[in-house]
Amino acid sequence: MLGMMMDTPLLVSAIARFAEKNHGNQEVVSVTYDNPRHRYQYKDAIRRSRQLANALSRLGVQPGDRIATLAWNDHRHLEAYFGVSGSGAVLHTINPRLFAEQIVFIINHASDRYILVDPLVLPLLEKLQDQITGVEGFIILSDEAHMPETSLPGALCYETLLSAETDDYEWPDLDENSASAICYTSGTTGDPKGVVYSHRATILHTYAITMPDVMGLSCRDSVLPIVPMFHVNAWGVPYAAPMVGAKLVMPGAKAGDGETLQDLIETEGVTMSCGVPTVWLALLDYLDQSGKTVSNLNRIVVGGAACPSSIISKFNDQHDVYVHCAWGMTETSPLGVYNTLRSGQENLPAAELAALQLKAGRGIFGIEMKIVDANGKELPWDGVAFGALKVRGSWVASGYFGLDDNSDTHDASGWFGTGDVATIDPDGFMNITDRTKDVIKSGGEWISSIALENIAMGHPQVAEAAVIGIAHSKWTERPLLVIVAREGEPPTRQEMLALFEGRIASWWTPDDVVFVDELPHTATGKVRKATLREQFAAYTLPETSTDG
Ligand code: ADP
Repeated sequence: MLGMMMDTPLLVSAIARFAEKNHGNQEVVSVTYDNPRHRYQYKDAIRRSRQLANALSRLGVQPGDRIATLAWNDHRHLEAYFGVSGSGAVLHTINPRLFAEQIVFIINHASDRYILVDPLVLPLLEKLQDQITGVEGFIILSDEAHMPETSLPGALCYETLLSAETDDYEWPDLDENSASAICYTSGTTGDPKGVVYSHRATILHTYAITMPDVMGLSCRDSVLPIVPMFHVNAWGVPYAAPMVGAKLVMPGAKAGDGETLQDLIETEGVTMSCGVPTVWLALLDYLDQSGKTVSNLNRIVVGGAACPSSIISKFNDQHDVYVHCAWGMTETSPLGVYNTLRSGQENLPAAELAALQLKAGRGIFGIEMKIVDANGKELPWDGVAFGALKVRGSWVASGYFGLDDNSDTHDASGWFGTGDVATIDPDGFMNITDRTKDVIKSGGEWISSIALENIAMGHPQVAEAAVIGIAHSKWTERPLLVIVAREGEPPTRQEMLALFEGRIASWWTPDDVVFVDELPHTATGKVRKATLREQFAAYTLPETSTDG
């Protein structure tokens, strides 16, 4: 017997239609290339995304065609989220900070037909134009008055294009399993791989992330996604905010600028924000120096990399802002787990609470997870055993664009191997201890580089810390702590090593500490450990290495 319910497809355009009717008067505020504070309302955003859909169709764009963006977080990018995906085309968000050859690779691999480009990114694209000849045209995200000179052939002005169209457009009835967007992994090893989101997965993920134990978003929130819209769809916020009617505040190209962020938070009443650890460190530094406040903010999400404990304590103690850690990846849309406490846990002793709050988080319905040993045997959720993290669920990638064989990443039962190593405690809190390729193998056992980095980051004079494994004749590998010190008196080697005493098993203590001016980073702001390992490939650890 079948259920007798309407088979309404789960489509990105449904959010557009709903937001226009139900939250039409809610504000969308952006910093753009041509306006320090652009503001309008959801009804304008959706009306203009229909005009964009008409413009794309006039250009001959068909359902399934890839339309790329090289853009920051602003209202025009938001319009593309709905105008492109809603019309049945596939939104391909590209990270302008990738290496040039990676950008060329993914544009060609995705067969992008048009690229919507922010004027600030234009010079980058101009340099690459001879290598992306399959692209039919470029749409510059600007009005006529601010159109930059460009050598790009057939460059069109976004605002001119829109103004030639009516907003009379019927969102098509698509198959909910059709592609809505594509995002490439940053390819720290090998070529980037395309993760293809479906409309259905996007809607389910959006429902899930708004739940109270996840982002808990509502129409009373003002949300500032600092995480870029090209970094896994800004973790779903551009869909979630219009779905619930939250005010949306977008920092444009100023996402790394503490002054702009503080100003947006104060003047736009931002209650919730999300970003990777580096942006929070930058904002905290700015708040320290300027003495300014973030009085409206009540919670932030830290994801994309392990959260240093200093972010949690500083936001909590100095600014009364609650920090939620979260874990996810391009392949998981991205949210997989989110850290919210269970009832009573807020009364735990301070040290226990701090350790709990630092974990990546608890499962979200829709995603299953497990940890397994080297033989694929499931490990207990005891908070101690650590193994390879596998996930499966409605918003987890089943494969990659253009790759027929997914056997490297997916097992026979459909579980996706995340490439992360994790523990899961009896309360269901998962914690990432490492990426599989970064874990330090010492004497047949594993040392978590993330745990060591967290402790090192606790020193007030440490700006950034990374721990890598250095080849060792007896122990296979031993940990080396690499530090970028803050301005002023740097900590000593002895001081750094003393930090670990009593906080970890003594054999985990790094064998040496080195100070560098900067660490190599990926395009999403994470420490590029592979490069760091190459830099220190010839490094010899001191003789005093651990005796186990
Ligand atoms: P990339 O592979 O380009 O870095 P993602 O943005 O998809 O792309 O990164 C996902 C990875 O980031 C995860 O597999 C994990 O290693 C790391 N990560 C994400 N969130 C956390 C977290 N809370 N703690 C530790 N690592 C995290």
